Amino acid sequence: MTEQRRVIARVLSDSADHPDVEQVYRRAAELDPHISIATVYRTVRLFEEANIIARHDFGDGRSRYEEMPSDHHDHLIDLQSGRVIEFHNDQIEKLQELIADQLGFELVGHRLELYAVPRRGKIAPEQG
Ligand SMILES: [Zn+2]
Repeated sequence: MTEQRRVIARVLSDSADHPDVEQVYRRAAELDPHISIATVYRTVRLFEEANIIARHDFGDGRSRYEEMPSDHHDHLIDLQSGRVIEFHNDQIEKLQELIADQLGFELVGHRLELYAVPRRGKIAPEQG
């Protein structure tokens, strides 16, 4: 069990793409075929409660996970490919603090997700 937990931890820290539990399970099973999906579910919940990983809901009803980032970042979700892009923007960070401040609060955290599709120009670059 402890060894299986270690395998799941490794899968999560090696995954930069915010996998869901099914994806974590498939990757873990490649390393240890004895791992069950129930173990993955249980371990992921445990890691989440211990703040080792962060859970996200990117609007498709599937919980997605990433290793708890050391630096804060936000996410842009490409609705066409499902790709998740991480970004950090100082202006957005400051603006959020300003909004909370104006409402009489001290900001202690936030979540920001941008849902987007690639611009046409990105798929078929203009000529010339
Ligand atoms: Zn992320």
